[in-house]
Amino acid sequence: MDNHNLMSTQTLPLQTTRLSEIVSYDPGTGEEIGRAPLSSPEEVRQAVARAREAQPAWARLSYRERGRVVLKARKLMLAARDEVALLVSKETGKPLAEALSMEVVPTLDTMHYFAHASEALLRPQKIDIGQYGLMGRSSRLVFKPLGVIGIISPWNFPLATPADEIVMALMAGNAVVLKPSELTPLIALKIGEIFDRAGLPAGLLEILTGDGTTGAALIDARVDKIMFTGSVATGKRVAEAAAKYLTPVVLELGGKDPMIVLEDADLKNAARGAVWGAFANSGQACASVERCYVQESIAGKFIELIVKETRALKQGLGTEKSVDVGAMTNERQRAIVEEHVSDAVQRGATVLTGGRRGAKPEGFFYEPTVLTDVDHSMTIMRDETFGPVLPVMTFKTDDEAINFANDSVFGLTASVWTKNIARGQKLAERIEAGTVMVNEVVYTHGIAQTPWGGVKDSGYGRTHGRMGLLELVTPKHIHVNRISFLPDLWWFRYDPSATKLFGGLATHFTTGSILKTALLLPQMLRRLFERRF
Ligand code: NAD
Repeated sequence: MDNHNLMSTQTLPLQTTRLSEIVSYDPGTGEEIGRAPLSSPEEVRQAVARAREAQPAWARLSYRERGRVVLKARKLMLAARDEVALLVSKETGKPLAEALSMEVVPTLDTMHYFAHASEALLRPQKIDIGQYGLMGRSSRLVFKPLGVIGIISPWNFPLATPADEIVMALMAGNAVVLKPSELTPLIALKIGEIFDRAGLPAGLLEILTGDGTTGAALIDARVDKIMFTGSVATGKRVAEAAAKYLTPVVLELGGKDPMIVLEDADLKNAARGAVWGAFANSGQACASVERCYVQESIAGKFIELIVKETRALKQGLGTEKSVDVGAMTNERQRAIVEEHVSDAVQRGATVLTGGRRGAKPEGFFYEPTVLTDVDHSMTIMRDETFGPVLPVMTFKTDDEAINFANDSVFGLTASVWTKNIARGQKLAERIEAGTVMVNEVVYTHGIAQTPWGGVKDSGYGRTHGRMGLLELVTPKHIHVNRISFLPDLWWFRYDPSATKLFGGLATHFTTGSILKTALLLPQMLRRLFERRF
């Protein structure tokens, strides 16, 4: 019975669900783990209203006071790390090791960083306004919270993705309403419970478990910004729905991330990087290595290494400590993987290892798979597979590698592998992506300080780092004129001498030169003082 992936109430057996619930299953065993409410549009409206009411008092607190709550939540999460990791592993199928290393650790790091750094990152800034400064004017920027942030998140990193954004939004002085994936509601409720126990005032973090209809209702409830992470198709629907209200949106969407291995790379490490980058989280990471391009002269050796490394991986239940690759999180995603592999094989691809479902029929396992003889006519090289498949192609020149890498509608991350760092950086500049790593894969989402986001169909806007924090505030420009007793040169009244002066401003003032502008001083002074009452 393949019902565990289908969390919408319409598709679950009637005896196991009420219309107001979603059921969470372990994708490795098919067993029910728990249930969560399917929030109705009315409940969404009420949650947004509560958040809106709670936010102003929170915004009035200092960064230090807000940070204290975040650090308390961090302490509680650290103490509960094993329990949290187990729940993440059970709800997603990913190995416990990854639940810790790719979710709990980066989340704790993000909490620590933003609790301490947000004040400095959002410190008011003086703006240099050039010659206007000589007229007694000054400008500065202050950063104000937006109000209520709606977070809509996916199932593949059900802790780190929403928790990081919650922390950033709260530190910036906002309230948050989170709509997690219907496949991973329990971990979202856990996040809510931790913040609640940390003393976060009521209303500042509302968790609305539910499906797409709940997400759509969140947009209709008119929050002040939507932070959406998910597929391109849903991202487009979200952007369209949000446009009705002019609600700004950050879209963190899919990827088809390329890895380029140059002939001077450390081959063994590049092979291990490729295998981890392609198969961690069963390949269900937006930044997974989905295409590998290796320079022809070293391709044979490199492919031999990745096949050996792949065959050594242990697949099984994520909750078992020595498992490397767990079950995929849902059946629909596994079906996409099967379709992509079958299309590739029909068009001439060779399966070097894997290429079939895993041994345990009760879970959504798919064996880590390495393909060669692939090309860009195949869906496996064009569409997001989001599964444990590593297709490898060869290239001859750097230009050819760049052309392959950029031949995609996506642009989330990419990597270049070489011992020649200068060459790597040069190529990194030419790849169309939000992040390009040299001798690294996938992991920079885990660095709190660096921006995360894509180009092309991978979305727009950023999360993490200062740029991510800036998405969660509105910059307010405050402009002051200290010479309050004189009318501006460009105010009424107009006469021929005014027109002459403005012509002079066009030719002199706009050059930015104080000396040239000084030539206009007599005309300027005459106009300033002539018009005094
Ligand atoms: P999805 O688009 O199916 O769902 C994402 C979220 O949107 C879920 O919470 C879902 O309930 C909600 N949703 C569905 N329909 C909606 C609607 N009409 N209005 C509002 N919300 C709606 O994505 P998924 O399958 O959960 O996640 C996998 C995708 O996420 C992959 O494409 C992956 O690449 C992408 N992803 C991107 C990043 C990134 O940072 N760029 C990170 C993780 C995952």
